[in-house]
Amino acid sequence: MDSHTISFCDSNSPFDCIVFDLDDTLYPANTGIASALKKNIDDYLVEKFGFSESKASSHRVELFKTYGSTLAGLRALGHDIDADDYHRLPYDSQLRNLLFSIAQRKIIFTNSDRNHAVKVLERLGLSDCFEQIVCFESMNPNLSKSSRPDEFPVVLKPSMDAMNIALSLIHVNPRRTLFLDDNVRNIAAARAVGLRTVLVGKTVKTEGADYVLDTINNLGKVIPELWVSGTDGGDQRISRTRSDIDSILTTTAVGA
Ligand SMILES: [Mg+2]
Repeated sequence: MDSHTISFCDSNSPFDCIVFDLDDTLYPANTGIASALKKNIDDYLVEKFGFSESKASSHRVELFKTYGSTLAGLRALGHDIDADDYHRLPYDSQLRNLLFSIAQRKIIFTNSDRNHAVKVLERLGLSDCFEQIVCFESMNPNLSKSSRPDEFPVVLKPSMDAMNIALSLIHVNPRRTLFLDDNVRNIAAARAVGLRTVLVGKTVKTEGADYVLDTINNLGKVIPELWVSGTDGGDQRISRTRSDIDSILTTTAVGA
C-alpha cells in the first residue's frame, strides 16, 4: 500500500484522514432518515414559530395530511418560508460540530450513487463537511459505456477492487487512515488493505475492527486521539482537550 502514501498532515494524531461510509453510518439505522427529518421539521417549527414541541409535532402531521408536506402547508397558510432555507436546516448540529472539530481530511466512501449521497448530505446539513465523495460512479466509471452486461462487472464495497480504487482516488496512507462503516464485511475488507477500522452502529467488535462505536456521535469518546495534534513533537492535545470534545458532544441532544 506504499504506493498510496502520498499525503499526510503534520500531526501527532495517528490519523491523517477519516473515511466515512454514508448510509447507516452517518445517520442511525434504527431510526432512519425519515424520523430524523421529522425531528428536524419539528425543531424548525419550534424555532420559527415558538410552538411547544408537542404542538410542533401535531402541527407537522396536520400540515402533511392537508397539504402533502409541512413546507407546502406553511406556504399555503401564508407563511413566507424560504424553501432553500428550510431544506438546508441541519439535521444534527452535534454531528456537524463534531465533524468540523476534526482537522484531518474527511471523505465519504459509499456504495450509493452520487445523487443519493449529495441529497442525503444536504438533508443532514453536512454537505460542506467533506472534501470528497467516493461513490458508485467512482468505482464504476465505465459502466455506462458497456456494450454488454458482463463487460464491466459492478465494483462495490467490500471487494478488494473497490477498496483499492478508493485508496487510489483519495491518495492516503491506509495505516494513517480511519475507515468507518456499519457493515462488518466492509470493515474486514478495509482491514485487509491496511486501513484502521471503526465498526459503527454495533456494541461488539468484529474481527477486523480496531474500534466499535454504537453511534457516530460517540467518535470523540471512543477515539480521542483523533484530536491529538501539535508541532513541537510532544504528545500534547493542543487543538482539542477532552473537555472540549465532551462539550462538543453534549452541546445538542441528538434527535430521533
Ligand atoms: Mg452503510
